[in-house]
Amino acid sequence: MTTPRDAPTPPDPTSGEHDRFLAAARRTLDALVAYRERSLRSEEPVLRLRRMREIARDLRLTERVRDGGLLDGDYDEFLSSYLADTTRFHHPGYLAHQVAVPHPVATLAAMVDAFTNNAMAVYEVGPAASTIEFFVVNWMLGKIGWRPAPWSDGGKGDAEDGGDLAGSHGGGVLTHGGSLANLTALSAARQHMAPDVWREGVVDRLAVLASPHAHYSVARSWSILGMGSRGVIPVATRDDGTTDASDLPAAFLRAERSGYRVICVAANACSTPTGRYDRLDQLGAFCRERKLWFHVDGAHGASALLSPRLRPLLAGIELADSVVWDAHKMLQTPALCAGVLVRDSLHLDSAFHQDASYLIHEKQQPGFDSLQRTVECTKAGLGLKFYTVLATLGERRLAEFVEGRTDRTREAWHLISRRPGFDCPVEPESNILCFRYGDDDDEQLRIRDRLIATGRYYLSSTSYRGKRFLRIVVMHPRTDGALIERLLDDIEAAARS
Ligand SMILES: *Cc1c(COP(=O)(O)O)cnc(C)c1O
Repeated sequence: MTTPRDAPTPPDPTSGEHDRFLAAARRTLDALVAYRERSLRSEEPVLRLRRMREIARDLRLTERVRDGGLLDGDYDEFLSSYLADTTRFHHPGYLAHQVAVPHPVATLAAMVDAFTNNAMAVYEVGPAASTIEFFVVNWMLGKIGWRPAPWSDGGKGDAEDGGDLAGSHGGGVLTHGGSLANLTALSAARQHMAPDVWREGVVDRLAVLASPHAHYSVARSWSILGMGSRGVIPVATRDDGTTDASDLPAAFLRAERSGYRVICVAANACSTPTGRYDRLDQLGAFCRERKLWFHVDGAHGASALLSPRLRPLLAGIELADSVVWDAHKMLQTPALCAGVLVRDSLHLDSAFHQDASYLIHEKQQPGFDSLQRTVECTKAGLGLKFYTVLATLGERRLAEFVEGRTDRTREAWHLISRRPGFDCPVEPESNILCFRYGDDDDEQLRIRDRLIATGRYYLSSTSYRGKRFLRIVVMHPRTDGALIERLLDDIEAAARS
């Protein structure tokens, strides 16, 4: 059998290719470090939107494919041309999305993962990657307050950690992003609440109660799972956009009257448009009382679990049946690394099977196959990138990072609320903030376009309560009050111009 260790990988070290590869690797790293430095110093525009045709021409996409030999030719030019048309997440004016400004150490992990290419959904295809994923999942479970899985899960008879505890502990899997994570968790919910559907298809009309501010992947998952987007029954929201738990009984009745059987409640922790946290304790209590599956979409906001100060925002999360948590948002991890976490590991084992118990036990092997828990078959070693960040910063500094971004956002809220002409309707609980200048919806979009054209800022916009808002997400380690003041000055100038 060929092991990854002795499998010959191109480039062949006996040819000049080896040296060329190493030289190109060093120059790539140099170029990336310089790229990051220039971005941090705002020496390049945060975003430059050129036409695809021009970018393709500058990269000489067609010619290179015809000629081959990328590393023999003007590879450096190709690379610098590519970097010139990237959106610079390292630029302090990057305020647009919930996607992390990646820690450089994770770049090395990404390279190791790509180089080894251990497609690790099956243990023997990547023992180290699988072990790190198992560790990362357990670390996340521990932060929620759930019982981590013993190392023996998947293998039998490991007396060291108390033998086989399947079913009495949490479990999880890492997926390629929060959207897929929501699909995975809601599949587990459907399987638990309506197990016949797996074979028979959807017969009853099955509903999930969710806020209208739930991430679109919740409704999309409900449709993919065959239950239809009309099965996503909206729950009333409070002024801050959070789910109004007192409306749950009425929403439940509305669903039943329309012929639905409610099987699940989906909570936002926090919501995408305003970054506010649902009252998980109240939503969770309702689910316990009605015996419903409680899903917490913590893709963005679960990272607050790291901070003793912010953790109360997630009080009640332990009542959940499933939680989604993205490391590629608040945890400085490059895309992608999303955790699907369940209180009872068997619920995830059966997410894609009617009877999964045999899967866990039939194989005698020293490690765990995550294959039965995912939509994916081939899967990258997603845990490694996050693990390197965690092991570089340590838990405490990572927690301080999350706290710092939240504090800067609160400061921004104070600054913006004080300025005449600005409206900042929702006090932030996380690092997401909505505001508008003046009272005209279209004007917000014009302001955004003008700011982007300056190359100094990249921010997004959202519709909230029927109005158009500018929206910032303070992801960058260097975004501070001074930058926000400059941004507000420039918004006023953009509105005048
Ligand atoms: C970002 C986000 C998602 C989607 O996650 P991706 O990793 O972008 O697929 C889902 N839910 C919430 C609340 C989010 O913030």
